[in-house]
Amino acid sequence: MADQRYGVLRPGFWVFVCLFWAFMVSDVMAQVTHLQVLDADGRSIALLELFQRQSTKYVLEKEVKELFSGTGIYESVMGRVTLTIMGKKIVFRLRQNQVKVDGEEYVLSAPPVSISGNIAVPVEFLTVIMPAVIDKQITLDQNNGILQISGESFAKDSEPRTDSHVPVGSDAEFRVIIDPGHGGRDTGSRTKIGQLEKDQTLKIAQQIKAMLAAEEGIDVYLTRSSDRYLTTTERVNSANTLRGHVYLSIHFNWSPFQRSRGFGMYVNNNRTRLGPGLNLGADMLSSGGRDSVNSSPEIKLFLFRARWLAKELAKQLESIGLSGEQNKEAFLADMDDLSMPGVLVEVLYFSNRQDQIILSRPDFINSVSRAFCDSILGLRDVLRN
Ligand SMILES: [Zn+2]
Repeated sequence: MADQRYGVLRPGFWVFVCLFWAFMVSDVMAQVTHLQVLDADGRSIALLELFQRQSTKYVLEKEVKELFSGTGIYESVMGRVTLTIMGKKIVFRLRQNQVKVDGEEYVLSAPPVSISGNIAVPVEFLTVIMPAVIDKQITLDQNNGILQISGESFAKDSEPRTDSHVPVGSDAEFRVIIDPGHGGRDTGSRTKIGQLEKDQTLKIAQQIKAMLAAEEGIDVYLTRSSDRYLTTTERVNSANTLRGHVYLSIHFNWSPFQRSRGFGMYVNNNRTRLGPGLNLGADMLSSGGRDSVNSSPEIKLFLFRARWLAKELAKQLESIGLSGEQNKEAFLADMDDLSMPGVLVEVLYFSNRQDQIILSRPDFINSVSRAFCDSILGLRDVLRN
């Protein structure tokens, strides 16, 4: 759903960005020179350069404008900047801490300044001002230089929590966690005729659960089994609690470009984030442990599962007429805390005409779910042997 707002994502490019960024961070962790911006699906959408002035870190106003597809005017006589982002007017002056968003005043702890002739705003601008503008939560992980734009609305509403665990089998040994993307107020992308990503992902997840119900030796759990809102942390936490063997997150894609079509597979590998030479302690282990070391065979085995599943799923989706990009490996913020192999699947593009034809087939949900099931069964068989 990120493409919608931030232009097309070339996964290969972003993997490069991740690696580049990892290289930057691996030098001195405390000396973060860039902010990696992640979208709600955990993918990298921008890299903002950081500038230090006294004790404050700044980003360039033009990069902020670009990130949020905004426009702006600078009136040099008054030192006044007026930005227009998503229909909202943001007004501030250089060396003054007050910022107005559609007339409402906010106060920053450090003022916008000029750095080598460029207007720069404190990083705080992104976490204090921007959530009010785009109505999304934005959180900053200062140590790792990560800015996460969540799918969660900034104005929090209260939605009752219900139990999300829906077991299928009883004493099975292979536990699969299926995560239907989005839900509740977070609708995800939308097709021309109004189909919502959150509904399609749930239909597929429920169908997978139903199809695998008869299978022996498999337990299927859904992170949500109804149209309700869940945070990333809630999804990952329930998966970890259930000690799943593999985690599959289902999504659909959207792009302003017609040429973007087909599926995309993202294998979670947070080694790309950690970079070479760093402790892989945060890497994931199938046992659920998070305290292992470099080059452990467990990590290889761990990644093997996710890679195998992604590859098989790509093959299965191709067999029902979809084409796409296979096995993009990246650090996925959504899955960072996951203690099992994780794959994020974008089934197809809601925005593409050919993909829409496939989506409107009466057997679409069934055939896609079958593809998922066959891949999951395949992985189980591989692990058994
Ligand atoms: Zn999505």
